[in-house]
Amino acid sequence: MTSLKDQQVLIVGGGIGGLTAALALARHGIPSQVIEQAAAFKEIGAGIQLGPNVFRMFERLGLIEPISALAVFPENLIMFDSITGEEVTRIPLDEAFRRKFYYPYALIHRADLHNVLLEQCRQSNLIRLDAAQKIADVKEMNGGITAKTASSKDYRGAALIGADGLWSTIRELVVGDGKPKPAGHIAYRAVLPTSEIPEQYRRRDMALWAGEKVHFVLYPLRTGELYNLVAVFHSNRYEEGWDSFGDPAELQERFAKTCAPVRVLLAKIESWRMWVLCDRPPVKDWSRGRVTLLGDAAHPMLQYLAQGACMAVEDAVCLADQAAAANGDYAAAFRAYQQARYLRTGRVQIMARIYGEFYHAGGVAKELRNIMLGSRTPDDAMAGMEWLYGEQTELMRGALPAKPRSAASS
Ligand SMILES: Cc1cc2nc3c(=O)[nH]c(=O)nc-3n(C[C@H](O)[C@H](O)[C@H](O)COP(=O)(O)OP(=O)(O)OC[C@H]3O[C@@H](n4cnc5c(N)ncnc54)[C@H](O)[C@@H]3O)c2cc1C
Repeated sequence: MTSLKDQQVLIVGGGIGGLTAALALARHGIPSQVIEQAAAFKEIGAGIQLGPNVFRMFERLGLIEPISALAVFPENLIMFDSITGEEVTRIPLDEAFRRKFYYPYALIHRADLHNVLLEQCRQSNLIRLDAAQKIADVKEMNGGITAKTASSKDYRGAALIGADGLWSTIRELVVGDGKPKPAGHIAYRAVLPTSEIPEQYRRRDMALWAGEKVHFVLYPLRTGELYNLVAVFHSNRYEEGWDSFGDPAELQERFAKTCAPVRVLLAKIESWRMWVLCDRPPVKDWSRGRVTLLGDAAHPMLQYLAQGACMAVEDAVCLADQAAAANGDYAAAFRAYQQARYLRTGRVQIMARIYGEFYHAGGVAKELRNIMLGSRTPDDAMAGMEWLYGEQTELMRGALPAKPRSAASS
C-alpha cells in the first residue's frame, strides 16, 4: 500500500473538475499532477450558473470569497413563454431561498471561475500543472499508474483520475462504452457587453424563454458588465462537435416565431459558438482499480439543470474525502467515491433530460407545463429543488453551516 502523502495522484484534464480535484486533494495533503492537452489551462468564454449545492463545496475548499467577488447574484429565476412573452413562473432568489438552501444562486463567467481555481492550484506546492500533454494510454502496474502521452512522455503516480470531459479517453479505457449520445439539440452561445443589450431587456435575473423545440437564456455576468446568451434548438443535422462557429441564419429561422425580446436579442449577435449537446445514460461503475473518472467523463449530462460543472465540483470534494479516509488504498477509495456519487449524478443526468423536454414542450404538453408551473408558489418551487440544492446526501453531511454565509451575500 502506498503512503498517502508520498506519491502524487495523476489528474487527466485541467477543466473545472480536474483543477477542483487537485485543490480538494491538496487540502488533505495529497499531491497531484494535472495534465492538460490544450496548449494552456483555460476555459471558453461563456457563462455558467452555480446552484447553492456547489457553494457548499466551495465553502469546504475555502473558495467562497474569490468566487463571490466575480459572480452576479441574480434576483430571480424566471421562465417566460417564448411565443407570447408572458411570464410562466419565477423563483425569487431572496432571503427565503438562502434560508432554505444556506447558499446563494450565482452566475459567473467560466473563465473567471476557472482562473480562480487555476490561481489556487498555482499557489499550492502540492499541485503540478502541465499543459500541452494529451494522455493516450494508461497502465496499472506494480501498485502504481503510468500514463503515456501521444508523444510517449510518461507520468507516474499512485492513482489516476480521468477528468477529461465528455469525449474522455480515460472513460474509453475504464468503461469502454463508445461515444456519448447526441441529444439532437444544438446550443449557440455568445457573450455581449451590457451596452449592446437594449435597456428594457437588462435584468438581474436568470431569464429563460421556453418554446416548442427551442429555448433562449439571458443572464448578466461579471458584476453586470456582460450578458450571456444561449439559444438552444432541436436539430439532427449535426452528429457531433464541440465549440465550432454557428450559423446565424439557421438560428434566425429556428426562432422566427418567438416574441420580440428573443428575436431582438438574437439579432444582436454576429458571432456564435455552437455546441452539439450530448449525454450518456447513467452507469454505476466508472472506476477500475486505481483509475477513476470525475465530472463529464463519469456522468455527462445535458445542461438543462445547469449542474454539469456543479456535479464535477461535488465529485472532487467527495473523491478527495474518500482518498484521505482510505489512506493510500486508492482502489477502495474510488469504489467508495463512486458508490457515494452514482445515484445522485444519475438522477441529475435523468432529470436534465426531462427538464429539456419540459422547456421544449409544444401543444398540450406546453399548456400543461404553463399551468403546472404557473400555479406553484415559491415554496412549492423550492420544495421541488430540495433534492438537488438541499443537504440530504451523504456527501453533504457535515459540510452544512448553521447559517447563510455573509461572504456569499453580495
Ligand atoms: C451549453 C452548456 C451550458 C452549460 N451550463 C452549465 C451551467 O450553467 N452550470 C453547470 O454547472 N454546468 C453547465 N454546463 C456543463 C459544464 O460545462 C460541464 O459539465 C463541465 O465543464 C464539465 O467539467 P469537466 O472538468 O468534467 O470537463 P471539461 O470542462 O470538458 O474539461 C475536460 C478537460 O480535459 C482536457 N482533456 C480532454 N482529453 C484529454 C486528454 N486525453 N489528455 C489531457 N487532457 C485532456 C480538455 O482539454 C479539458 O480541458 C453546461 C454545458 C453546456 C454545453
